[in-house]
Amino acid sequence: MTAPTTPSTSQAPTWSNWAGQQHCTPSVLARPYSERELTEVIARAGDAGHTVRPVGSGHSFTDTCVTDGVQVDLRHLAQLIDADPSSGLVRVQAGMPLHRLCDALHEHGLALENQGDIDRQTIAGALATGTHGTGARFRNLSAGVVGCRIALADGTVRELTADSGLSGELLRAARVSLGALGVITELTLQTVPAFRLRKVEEPRPLDDLIDGFHELAAAHDHYEFYAFPYAKTALSFASDRTDDPPAPLPRWRKWVVDDLIANRGLAAFSQAGRVAPRRAPQISRAMTRLLSRDVRTDHSHRVFASERRVRFTEMEYAIPRAQVGAALREVLALIEDQRIGVTFPIEVRATAADDAPLSTASGRDTAYIAVHQFVPMPYEAYFRAVEAIMDRHDGRPHWGKRHFQTAATLAPRYPEWDAFQAARRELDPHGLFTNDYVRRVLGPPPAERA
Ligand SMILES: Cc1cc2nc3c(=O)[nH]c(=O)nc-3n(C[C@H](O)[C@H](O)[C@H](O)COP(=O)(O)OP(=O)(O)OC[C@H]3O[C@@H](n4cnc5c(N)ncnc54)[C@H](O)[C@@H]3O)c2cc1C
Repeated sequence: MTAPTTPSTSQAPTWSNWAGQQHCTPSVLARPYSERELTEVIARAGDAGHTVRPVGSGHSFTDTCVTDGVQVDLRHLAQLIDADPSSGLVRVQAGMPLHRLCDALHEHGLALENQGDIDRQTIAGALATGTHGTGARFRNLSAGVVGCRIALADGTVRELTADSGLSGELLRAARVSLGALGVITELTLQTVPAFRLRKVEEPRPLDDLIDGFHELAAAHDHYEFYAFPYAKTALSFASDRTDDPPAPLPRWRKWVVDDLIANRGLAAFSQAGRVAPRRAPQISRAMTRLLSRDVRTDHSHRVFASERRVRFTEMEYAIPRAQVGAALREVLALIEDQRIGVTFPIEVRATAADDAPLSTASGRDTAYIAVHQFVPMPYEAYFRAVEAIMDRHDGRPHWGKRHFQTAATLAPRYPEWDAFQAARRELDPHGLFTNDYVRRVLGPPPAERA
């Protein structure tokens, strides 16, 4: 471990998230260099009457990281500890960003089975909110967790393994925890042999993609599409595992597709939408005219993740997969009927059911519908109206993306809600790791309720 050159706790500067819309000034910022130092920070916080909030790379849109207590940042606990290519089991420190983890795995001939759109999150931060990619047969990231070490409110560190007793139950809860059980310091992950993906990106009629979503999701390893409000053309992305050699886009083409269109073009259209929100239909349709067919083959982590430079805010709902077409059509009709000033596309994905109590795919095959809004523009009325649609489809909000739910509205949507609350009672009964967000979405700490 690198020797510390700066004190690991300090007066905290103002913190803000990636989107720049959540801010806080913690009493103390702790960046421990060891698990032991972390447990001392936690013990001191408890003695001083502060709460403790772990933070990753701040890519959540909700106030999940906001605290006036002690903010714990694990940037100095961010190494790959061990990787066994024969079993695929790897041990990683919790603060490691996904892009570094994926590069390190690749050197060992390994990869994550599935990934989301970006790779800037820390592994623990991504897991804590149930981060997912797409793939009807693949589960979200948290399903790969087979063990972890977690620093608890009582100053101890507990090792959780996937056995059939209490430890296994606590591990299931810790896989998607919102940081509400303790600070995870290390994770054991089941990875897969490194693989390549061939990705075909192409404009197609929106109605074909809505009507054919289930067939497309079944036919491809990783399928998703972007629906552009007010437009009849959508952008389809189909990625499949292949033994073909890497064939990335030529540099000039990559610049056009990934930089010029996906970032600079999106920024320009978003600015136009901001200046003239009533022109959103024309702007959105103009955007679809720039879409083109592109095919690339590369190592999986280079295909899954892309760069997102345009700042936006987002709401995403997980719904029973069979309802995706109906729900999406309702969202598109809402936008058109109310002529909402939005030009950002709506993202549609799918994952398989899993068994983490707070996973948004817990116990059911899932489709995801994500709506976005350019950062300077008003989002709340739009997101609330979309949320009302998702409520009718038994929707579960992404824990890291904006929503307006409370513990009372969420509890009936999670069959294993009580299993998570039991883990909370066991590991953090007095709510040392509870902030306002956790209180809103999971309820007060168990001891307070008792
Ligand atoms: C541009 C962009 C693209 C995105 N794409 C996707 C996507 O494709 N799919 C998807 O599902 N999500 C996506 N997200 C959402 C993102 O993956 C999640 O919000 C994720 O939780 C962010 O990880 P982070 O490291 O930034 O964690 P933060 O946002 O900093 O923290 C998230 C949560 O993790 C907890 N936490 C952090 N570290 C620890 C720890 N050591 N122990 C316990 N708890 C901890 C925090 O307390 C907090 O509750 C995207 C976000 C952005 C901004």
